[in-house]
Amino acid sequence: MATRKDLGRPADDRSRIDALKLALRGRGLRATPSRLAVLGLLRSNGGPLSHAEAADRLHDQSWDRATIYRNLTDLAEAGLARRSDVGDHTWRFEAVDVAHADDRHAHFVCTECGVVECMPDVGLAVGKAAPRAVRRKQVEVQVRGRCDGCAA
Ligand SMILES: [Zn+2]
Ligand SMILES: [Zn+2]
Repeated sequence: MATRKDLGRPADDRSRIDALKLALRGRGLRATPSRLAVLGLLRSNGGPLSHAEAADRLHDQSWDRATIYRNLTDLAEAGLARRSDVGDHTWRFEAVDVAHADDRHAHFVCTECGVVECMPDVGLAVGKAAPRAVRRKQVEVQVRGRCDGCAA
């Protein structure tokens, strides 16, 4: 069920939504209200979110969890989001900067609270001797430890 909460928002919010619409249509996806909200959430979050986390953040909307999951999957298949498994067998989704779609980066995973943060400065620089999966960047790079909150 679509909501019409987008109407009457300030102009900069409208241009943000226009940019989301352009991104979706540029990848052949219809700009449905739920897809716009899910993509907007991923882009504003700045790090990976699980389906459960995304559904929680969008709980004030009327979409069911299956719709949100389908949107996350659609975005991943269209190249607007990336799916990662940081080792707990839960898919997490993060927005892909389409201009740097090949920039895979490491993720920090807190061993206490499970928070996942992007490490955009830690990329995959690999030589010819690396296994094919590494050269194709079909791998996950994880750094594990205790986050600032848990280490205190
Ligand atoms: Zn932590
Ligand atoms: Zn990331």
